[in-house]
Amino acid sequence: MKISVLGSGSGGNATFVESGDTKILVDAGFSCRKIEEKLGALQKDPAGLDAILITHEHMDHIAGAGILSRKYNIPLYITPESYRAGQGRLGDISDALLRFIEGEFVLNDDLQAIPFDVMHDAERTVGFRLNSDDGKSVTISTDIGHVNNIVREHFRDSDVIVIESNYDHCMLMNCGYPFELKNRIKSRNGHLSNEMAARFVRDIYHAQLRKVYLAHVSRDSNTYEMAYETVCGALREEGIRLSVEAARQDRQTDIFEL
Ligand SMILES: [Zn+2]
Ligand SMILES: [Zn+2]
Repeated sequence: MKISVLGSGSGGNATFVESGDTKILVDAGFSCRKIEEKLGALQKDPAGLDAILITHEHMDHIAGAGILSRKYNIPLYITPESYRAGQGRLGDISDALLRFIEGEFVLNDDLQAIPFDVMHDAERTVGFRLNSDDGKSVTISTDIGHVNNIVREHFRDSDVIVIESNYDHCMLMNCGYPFELKNRIKSRNGHLSNEMAARFVRDIYHAQLRKVYLAHVSRDSNTYEMAYETVCGALREEGIRLSVEAARQDRQTDIFEL
């Protein structure tokens, strides 16, 4: 399996995953042109994508999804709830390209996708556990208000994880956001803090975990360094050495191969 987080944050989210001959995007929250550029930088052809999987209908996850799907005839996998709520922004998706997510599904015999519900304030939000046929797995969830057992279960035993590390509590409380927005972010339907992400990674750590990407790092209430340090600090306390990388908003990560 190969993975690159093409970019993450409130300005757009997309992750490229390859397993065998199957290539997919999880979310397409940048413009179509930007996604083409990002894939081009990795020598990947957007026309070769087999699917776009959507976690939820917020703009930072679907901005280029409709255009990309139409331009290259890529099937779009989305929950019926998110499709209804995001239909206006997605534009017209033909029946031939629209695939409603109802449970787990397999792409080209290479990649099994297991969606799981997470708490976040969209109409519906899912994360994805992606299993390759040679027993590897990548689990991705970039917008989580609250970690529950369903989330833990799907991240457990994954080789690579992409997990939200949205805000630093102190920076959030001191930033210029209105009171209501701060409360929304902190709530169980909002986002995960660095501390929550650190605790989560420490709790689910296992010897096969190879790489952790911290996602959706806020511009206003966090820094890449703080997210990284908080998570690495918690792991260090336990004597755990692990490759951790804060995914950037404006550039793709190198391809990590499993
Ligand atoms: Zn969202
Ligand atoms: Zn988001």
